[in-house]
Amino acid sequence: MSSALNILKEVFGYPGFRGQQAEIISHLSNGGDCLVLMPTGGGKSLCYQIPALLREGVAIVVSPLIALMQNQTTALNEIGVRAAVLNSSLSIEEAELVEQRLLGGVYDLLYVAPERLLTGRFLHLMTRIPIALFAIDEAHCVSQWGHDFRPEYSQLSILHERFPSVPRIALTATADTDTRQEIIERLGLGKARLFVSSFDRPNIRYHIIDKNNSRSQLLAFIQGEHRNDSGIVYCLSRKKVEETAGWLTSHGMRAIAYHAGMSTQVRSINQEKFLREEGTIMVATIAFGMGIDKPDVRFVAHLDLPKSIESYYQETGRAGRDGQPANAWMVYGLNDVIQQRRMIEESGAQSKFKHVAAKKLQAMLSLCETTACRRRHILNYFGEITEMTACGNCDVCLDPPQVWDATLEVQKALSCVYRTNQNFGAGHLIDILRGNLTERVKQWHHDKISTFGIGKNLPEKTWRAIFRQAIALGFLTTANDKHGALQLVDACRPILKGQQTVALRLQTKATSSYERTKENDVLPSTTAEHYLWERLRTWRTKIAQEQGVPAYVIFHDATLLELVRLCPQTEDELRQITGIGTRKLDKYGNHLIEILRGG
Ligand code: ADP
Ligand code: ZN
Repeated sequence: MSSALNILKEVFGYPGFRGQQAEIISHLSNGGDCLVLMPTGGGKSLCYQIPALLREGVAIVVSPLIALMQNQTTALNEIGVRAAVLNSSLSIEEAELVEQRLLGGVYDLLYVAPERLLTGRFLHLMTRIPIALFAIDEAHCVSQWGHDFRPEYSQLSILHERFPSVPRIALTATADTDTRQEIIERLGLGKARLFVSSFDRPNIRYHIIDKNNSRSQLLAFIQGEHRNDSGIVYCLSRKKVEETAGWLTSHGMRAIAYHAGMSTQVRSINQEKFLREEGTIMVATIAFGMGIDKPDVRFVAHLDLPKSIESYYQETGRAGRDGQPANAWMVYGLNDVIQQRRMIEESGAQSKFKHVAAKKLQAMLSLCETTACRRRHILNYFGEITEMTACGNCDVCLDPPQVWDATLEVQKALSCVYRTNQNFGAGHLIDILRGNLTERVKQWHHDKISTFGIGKNLPEKTWRAIFRQAIALGFLTTANDKHGALQLVDACRPILKGQQTVALRLQTKATSSYERTKENDVLPSTTAEHYLWERLRTWRTKIAQEQGVPAYVIFHDATLLELVRLCPQTEDELRQITGIGTRKLDKYGNHLIEILRGG
């Protein structure tokens, strides 16, 4: 493995392998097939990039997204690796040039779109040159049930039929076992070795807090913890995306929008801005994100509840790919629950699908309401057994929620549902409990029923939290045919009979800010360090603009931080810094030493 390690150090500038990288690289370099399941930011790309350099011939990388291919090749070229793309973004002449060079043995890696790869022309081309390996990135695109399904992916088994002696590596960050099985079957990887990494993302801090005024909460969160940082804000609707982006902009933030209702052109301009300009906030629907491998996204915020833990984890996973501390932050309230339920009901899907969707939503709700470590909850959901009981880096661990005995209050809420024949939504039920004489209450004579006014002692906010948790805990559900009307579930019987007590979370704080611990401190702490940091960043921005690439292609934040902390003064010392390989040392070494000495 020593030569792989040399490449890692010299070309990529990293001191050591992470997790299972070394094993995977050795397996693939020796000609073995494998399927790699690793979370986002785990370091999947190196698993085929290093074997590509070790083995004879060119590595063919299949990737579903043009932007992703382009970013990867830009970054590889920057460190002196000979890589190119072949996809529909090239003109005919450009494509022909790439093909010629390919035949001339110029490339170590070629990124190819699946539809291009499967053409007779390209398959024939490949018979004329030595192929080092096939890498199938985002392999979950073969799954017909997933939302990233790409029909061409299911024909990729042809690679093995035509080129049986070329090793294959398939990679994905999708954790669920059904998708894994589908990949193995469709790509014919039954005999391939499976590498499954832990799906934990220890540098991401999870927070899920009660929603009261989501916009102001968002603003306070960003201003408090993420001034000048890049981040993604997810909203459910296009309208809300635009409103939120406008609101952030009016408060002096650099925010842009992205949703499927915008033209392709505007979308790609905004995406490019997000990648290139530092400190940009992308407000988007879930249409945004796949293939975005920007490493320095410092936060992902959700203003609406995702439909499942799978979605939540995939979306939050876009934060902190570079391994530096990042926040996953979400506000959530009663309306989210009702809205998501309604969307399932109105989806027009078959009942089997609705049933699955409802189960996934319920799992998401229980993550929101859990009084134990969120990280552990998520990992268990994905079937990962962990020794960890408290991660120390989620809101629950950092600030354990208090619970209170809400048996009596839940009984009142449930009996109010019962007395009104399970025909009404939470708003009206709360009016009855609080004794509000609204028109609707009068119209239905609900001021005459026994539950009228029995909940005066608690504010509306608390009642909403009680209803929300009663739904999340499965005591109440929304009716199929009546909009938002709450109905009793069998599970609530023992409570009404007084045989079971209910403990609920006390409301969480409206904001979430915790003392940053030392190791969570992203930015330098002293003034001198700060000064150096700013100088390095300004220099990096200048170089990136000159070359027309995103700043992180020049150096990651992590590299700049290490420069600030260790302040190397010689070439040899610079070589020890993570992210500085031979090529970057040659190109930028002198500049850096000048800045660091002057610092
Ligand atoms: P994935 O494709 O699994 O999401 P990437 O391959 O993009 O992850 O890697 C995530 C980040 O981690 C990249 O910025 C990469 O340069 C960095 N990285 C990968 N492996 C190592 C390593 N062994 N040492 C240091 N950094 C690494
Ligand atoms: Zn935790």
